Amino acid sequence: MKGEQKKKIVKTIKVNIDKCNGCRVCEMICSAFHAEPKYSSSNPARARIRVIRDPLSDKFVPVFAGAYTIAQCAVRDKYTIGGKEYDQCAFCRASCPSREDFKEPDSGLPLKCDRCEGEEEPLCVKWCYVDALTCEEKEEEVIDEKLEDMEIGVDALVEKYGLEKVKDIVARLSQSKKG
Ligand code: SF4
Ligand code: SF4
Repeated sequence: MKGEQKKKIVKTIKVNIDKCNGCRVCEMICSAFHAEPKYSSSNPARARIRVIRDPLSDKFVPVFAGAYTIAQCAVRDKYTIGGKEYDQCAFCRASCPSREDFKEPDSGLPLKCDRCEGEEEPLCVKWCYVDALTCEEKEEEVIDEKLEDMEIGVDALVEKYGLEKVKDIVARLSQSKKG
């Protein structure tokens, strides 16, 4: 029906930092799942989850990769956990031009958590034996995630190579497809 919002059940991941012991199994399994071919290697720099550590208080904070941002933010709030201050960048989910977190180390393209597409349960949740990560289901409006991911990828290419170069490549590709 026109105007009707489509809804679906989405699994979100809840983080309990009081349970996290910093084992980093979540980083390992995530990077292995996203290796090409799958499980052929494990490099936490390719993981869509990062465990931020405060060595003094021994607190660990798992942070998931969220959407790509084309600009660094103007606000740098401070977070205080266990009496220790962290700047906002450490906990930001975005792949941001001003820092290296959540960027594919070879290509520099942004990484985003895809909830382990195709798997029944997010693998970081499945492999977190202390339940610092758990799944929660909630109803959300449907957005076209494939289109959103495509936009993120194109944004990153434009940021890296410039709009004109990307337009040239698309024009050349469309010519070669026609021919
Ligand atoms: S697997 Fe669980 S306990 Fe280990 S670092 Fe990740 S969130 Fe923390
Ligand atoms: S849900 Fe999957 S893709 Fe997302 S951080 Fe966990 S292991 Fe990585």
